[in-house]
Amino acid sequence: MIYIFHPYFTAPLILLFYILHNPSSKFLQTISIFTSFLYFLLATALIPWPDFGSYWLITLYPTAFIFITILKIKNFRNLPSHTKISILNIIFLVLKSILLLFLINETGRYISTFKTNQHQTFRIDSPLKGGIFYIHQGGTNQITNYHNSGYSSKFAMDIDKINIFGLLTHRFNKNENPNNYLIFRDTVYAPCCGKIVSVVDSIKDHGVGSKNNFSVYSNQIAIDCEGIVIKMLHLHKKTAMVSVFDTVYSGQPIGLIGNSGFSSRPHLHIEGFISESPNHAVILKFKGFPYPVRNMIYKN
Ligand SMILES: [Zn+2]
Repeated sequence: MIYIFHPYFTAPLILLFYILHNPSSKFLQTISIFTSFLYFLLATALIPWPDFGSYWLITLYPTAFIFITILKIKNFRNLPSHTKISILNIIFLVLKSILLLFLINETGRYISTFKTNQHQTFRIDSPLKGGIFYIHQGGTNQITNYHNSGYSSKFAMDIDKINIFGLLTHRFNKNENPNNYLIFRDTVYAPCCGKIVSVVDSIKDHGVGSKNNFSVYSNQIAIDCEGIVIKMLHLHKKTAMVSVFDTVYSGQPIGLIGNSGFSSRPHLHIEGFISESPNHAVILKFKGFPYPVRNMIYKN
C-alpha cells in the first residue's frame, strides 16, 4: 500500500499551499512559517532523492522555502497584530495545531533514528570503493529504513552509487538494463577480517524494477567477524571470489554487485547480526564516517 502521507506525495502540495496561502495576522503567519520550515526540513531528510533523478534535488525544498519566506517576511509588517476570532480562524488554528503536533512527532522519530547507543554497534570498512556512495535505506527507525521491521535485517542498509551529478545511472533515462547503473558489477570488498560462513552465487540476475521476476533468494556472501555475521545480498551471478571456510582480510575483493533476489535495482544490501543469535541485529558503522542513515553520501 502506498503511504499517502509520505513527503514524496505531500511535499509538492504543501509547497503549493505555502505559496498561495496568505494568513490574515502576524500570529498566523508566524505559525505558517514555523510549521512549513519544520515540514520541509523533514521532507528534505526523508525523500530518497536519487529516485527522482538527481541526488542534488535535495536542495529543492530548502531553496524554495527560503525564497518564498523572504517574500512573506517583506509583507509581514502590513499584517494586523490581532487574529480576529471567527469560526473559520478557529478551524484553521485547530488544523494547524494538529499538523504541528504531527510534525513534532515525526521530527522526534527522525531524530531518534540517530540514537544508536541502545543497540550493539559494530565498526566495519566500506564494502565499496572508488566512488560516491548513497545510503538509500539506513537508520534505526522505519521512516528512514524500511528494513526496520525485520529481525536480522533490522538495521540493514541499502547502498547505491551516484556520480557527481547525483545520478544512479550512466544515462539520464533509467531503463530495464542493470548495466545502466553505475554500481552494477562493481567489486564488493570484505568489510572486516573473518571467516566466510555462506556463499550463494547461482541465482540469475533480473532486470530493473521487474518485480514479477524477483527470486526469493539472493546471491550472497556472509562473513563471521569476531562473532558478528556481516551479510551482503543481491550479488551478481557466478562472481563469488571466496568459498565457505575461507579466511578473508578486510578490503579483500569477494564478489561483484548484481541485481539478484528481492531487489528492484542494482545495489548492495548489507546487514549485521550476532552469530549465535541471528535474530539479534547489530548496527553497522563505517570507520571514519558518521552513522549512515537515508540521504547520507560518502566518498571512498
Ligand atoms: Zn535491502
